[in-house]
Amino acid sequence: MINALTIDVEDYFQVTAFENCIRPDDWGYYPLRVAGNTLRILDILDEWSVKATFFILGWVAEKMPALVREIQKRGHEIACHGYNHQLIYRIGRNEFRKDIRKAKHLIEDIGGARVCGYRAPSYSITKKSLWALDILVEEGFDYDSSIFPIKHDIYGIPDVNRFVGAIRTAAGTILEFPLSTLRIKVANLEYNLPVAGGGYLRLLPVWFIKQALNHINRCERQSAVIYFHPWEIDPKQPRIKNAPLKSRLRHYLNLDKTTLKIKYLLHHFQFSPMSDVLKAFGPGAGNHATIDLESSGSAGI
Ligand SMILES: [Zn+2]
Repeated sequence: MINALTIDVEDYFQVTAFENCIRPDDWGYYPLRVAGNTLRILDILDEWSVKATFFILGWVAEKMPALVREIQKRGHEIACHGYNHQLIYRIGRNEFRKDIRKAKHLIEDIGGARVCGYRAPSYSITKKSLWALDILVEEGFDYDSSIFPIKHDIYGIPDVNRFVGAIRTAAGTILEFPLSTLRIKVANLEYNLPVAGGGYLRLLPVWFIKQALNHINRCERQSAVIYFHPWEIDPKQPRIKNAPLKSRLRHYLNLDKTTLKIKYLLHHFQFSPMSDVLKAFGPGAGNHATIDLESSGSAGI
């Protein structure tokens, strides 16, 4: 069973956790570390002969086109993480369309290849912003990986299907690769535990993530997705001291352990770019499982 490996290419000061103390207009004042950290990731992936999908922030691509080309030169898929890293349900439809259009065209112009995958800033396709799926289809995306089937304070659709499926929107069909979770039962209550990467990879013991992926692959016969960010392998990044305590706890937890955990997963599992994993589902929406969404114009097949 092949899993998808994904990296969201953004810098440490662009995360939602710090949005209240660092505005996008001020991003240019912070020392950039994303290129160095991404090159380290590329070297690790070369060492393990693994190809991945890099969801690149348009702002980063614009400032560092050579980084986009280097990712592509090393054989990885380039995909889109929007331009300005704003939560979709806050910016609304028009701003969202402008944001993804700008980022997609930028990354396509730099890489000279079509970009077909999208991941939302902080997984912000929720029940409040399902209209984003229609706009993604209209703007030429084939797949999305933004829906996290969990309960969380800023994202998540806890009752959505947990695995790859087709979603029919008013504009056409899009494939969704939801972020991986483990279905667990505690005292007659079932819920989804996030195991897909990022802060959860830093928080949970890596042997537990391994068991969860094994369960998804072997028992549920499904592909999983792992994600992380270049700043998560960088324990020496400058500290944002005026950020709220909760944000700092989340952002700085176990940064010195991420690289080893990633290498452990690369050793134990097979990974590919997301578009390659999705190809295994075959052409045409009829071959896909379905994801049911009751929404503004979006409905499962
Ligand atoms: Zn992001």
